[in-house]
Amino acid sequence: MPIPILMYHQIDIPPIRGTPLRGLVVHPKDFNNQMRWLKWMGYQGLSMRDLEPYLAGKKQGRVFGITLDDGYKNNFDNALPVLMKYGFTATCYGVSSQIGGTNAWDAGLVAEKQLMGIQEWAGWLKSGMEIGAHTRTHADLTALSDDAAIEEISGCKTDFERELDCEVRHFCYPFGRFGSNHTDLVRKMGYLTATTTRRGRTQTNHNAMELPRVMVARATYLLQLFVKMETSYEDKRG
Ligand SMILES: [Zn+2]
Repeated sequence: MPIPILMYHQIDIPPIRGTPLRGLVVHPKDFNNQMRWLKWMGYQGLSMRDLEPYLAGKKQGRVFGITLDDGYKNNFDNALPVLMKYGFTATCYGVSSQIGGTNAWDAGLVAEKQLMGIQEWAGWLKSGMEIGAHTRTHADLTALSDDAAIEEISGCKTDFERELDCEVRHFCYPFGRFGSNHTDLVRKMGYLTATTTRRGRTQTNHNAMELPRVMVARATYLLQLFVKMETSYEDKRG
């Protein structure tokens, strides 16, 4: 059974029309409606960690993954209460040099947004949610030497593990950019999966270091989400 892994970024009131990347900001009310509807459909939303036995084909069920990229504070403020209300877990991929910082990698492109600080990350974990790695600086790995890429990939894991006394097992490529050398490095650095921005639902035989996801954007409505999750619509290439 294919497993849809949903990809979110910000859960917040979308900025005014014309703002770059506005499409990646999902309104908290819409997020709540999506989770409520999925719960009603009999789905269980799971973090990458909780999804492990399903991805390995050891367990079967009506499950989907919930991932949030970058670690925005609005994930803590607006997504966490909803996730807890429906008994779902989620993975938030954080940037370890920006704990309590901002999305500095987008500087000049979009308005800076606050990222989770130590207190929020600790609360996120305490609520049963997971921290995944998204490199130290939100680096475009394809622009780096292998040594620099290793710094980014493995440094993020050790930073979060040290700062928050947790285990970081899952990775996500910043900007969705990676080469075949990076999939090898991510595996060697001890991660169990890596998610991409490629479209599609995950099959149990997928390369664990190149998992596709189902993007949920500001304008994704419930019927569309249903089609993305229940049919092969997203699995088509392109
Ligand atoms: Zn990102």
